[in-house]
Amino acid sequence: MLDHLAYAAPAPKVIRGARDDWELVIGLEVHAQIATRAKLFSGASTAFGAEPNSNVSFIDAAMPGMLPVVNEACIAQAVLTGLGLKAQINLRSAFDRKNYFYPDLPQGYQISQLYHPLVGEGEIIVDMAPGIARRVRIERIHVEQDAGKSIHDMDPALSFVDLNRTGVALMEIVSRPDIRGPEEAAAYVAKLRQIMRYLGTCDGNMQNGNLRADVNVSVCRPGDYERFRETGDFTVLGTRCEIKNMNSLRFIQAAIEYEARRQIGIIEDGGKVVQETRLYDPDRGETRSMRSKEEAHDYRYFPDPDLLPLEIEQAWVDDIAAGMPELPDEKKARFVTGLGLSEYDAGVLTAEVENADFFESVAAGRDGKQAANWVINELFGRLNKEGLGVGESPVSASQLGGVLDLIASGEISGKMAKDLFEILWTEGGEPAEIAAARGMKQVTDLGAIEAAVDEIIAANPGQVEKAKANPKLAGWFTGQVLKATGGKANPAAVNEMVGRKLGL
Ligand code: ADP
Ligand code: MG
Repeated sequence: MLDHLAYAAPAPKVIRGARDDWELVIGLEVHAQIATRAKLFSGASTAFGAEPNSNVSFIDAAMPGMLPVVNEACIAQAVLTGLGLKAQINLRSAFDRKNYFYPDLPQGYQISQLYHPLVGEGEIIVDMAPGIARRVRIERIHVEQDAGKSIHDMDPALSFVDLNRTGVALMEIVSRPDIRGPEEAAAYVAKLRQIMRYLGTCDGNMQNGNLRADVNVSVCRPGDYERFRETGDFTVLGTRCEIKNMNSLRFIQAAIEYEARRQIGIIEDGGKVVQETRLYDPDRGETRSMRSKEEAHDYRYFPDPDLLPLEIEQAWVDDIAAGMPELPDEKKARFVTGLGLSEYDAGVLTAEVENADFFESVAAGRDGKQAANWVINELFGRLNKEGLGVGESPVSASQLGGVLDLIASGEISGKMAKDLFEILWTEGGEPAEIAAARGMKQVTDLGAIEAAVDEIIAANPGQVEKAKANPKLAGWFTGQVLKATGGKANPAAVNEMVGRKLGL
């Protein structure tokens, strides 16, 4: 089905150092909040923006004797995400305790999946340009709890803790180090976000922290990466640094660019890159060390004794697969092969599932290319200008469809259609009724056109002589007729009539 999307791999980004050329190697660990109403192990609400500490159950607050109970909806969403990434679903997985102390983690450990994740190997096709894409392998997805939030900037002397987020379900989606440049990293996160939004498994709101990435970066010499892919030997790659908790596509790119140049500088100066966790400072545009490997936590992972291994049935997975909505790549392929759209237009229309749905209702039973032109150029153009989403569009899909029907039947011209669109945008209404009420009717009646042409010719004998001597001047008559008919006459018909009458 995706055959026509056969693609070539993009060239890796090369950075020229003081002495050598260097290539980038990037792997991402993305934390995506699972879209469910309740938390992973408690019934407390996940609603964003609630009063601090109002969505906290005894389990989230780690009261003594409380026991976690797995929320089936969270697991179903993670399975659906795995299926969307064409990944292996593990029918048996298990939860482990990752032990560390932090004031916003009342349990003293995070429940996660280290040894037996729910989802295994999958892939994401990251489109970089029409016909150019990177296949990024997914290593695993595990399900885990989020921690709470410490607030240090509300009081000069005190810190506060908000546990609303504590226990909310996350998916950690780990890629292989297959990403080869800053733009690809941003495109990878964007594609992952798009897929999860299509699936309805994560809202992808990066500002609210519902999607954030730890970015691992290393540099190597040309040829080393290919050797790594052949042998699987990580030691041929450079030492990586991990930039924590990035929640903006723009900052992800800037941080990678900075970090790669920093590492190249160190190596070319004869130094060694130290494996460490770094933070990106957007104000300074640089990364700085947060903790080195020596200071790295020993999390003392062990299987959580409060939770049995998670066993799911293939039939349940099959049910989830059967309900899976069409994914962006498939929708795009269908728009290209089925409706004849360009890959670029199909990409624009499928970027957000709401946009694709709107387009499909406009295109249903109509010319797909024309519908795409109108939706992209007129509607999206206007929505963008006014900062509106397609859900807030003043012109509905059925209204826009009505405009296209009037064009298709020859009742209105393209110019009139634009005027009609404007009226629908500002005043609303039914397209055919408005066109009739405002006299927007293209005149294709040849009798009426002939009368108008005769009149202009009779009134301008001088121009007639000139046009007969120089046929290029006949356009003047067409212009006059269109003006006289208030732009309602069909220009092609007028043109032909003028030529005939002038004997050209
Ligand atoms: P950890 O959990 O300690 O961060 P992982 O083995 O889970 O370690 O790897 C984390 C991420 O680092 C993965 O996305 C992986 O693809 C990426 N990665 C591993 N080696 C490199 C490297 N040399 N350069 C860039 N990224 C790397
Ligand atoms: Mg990591």
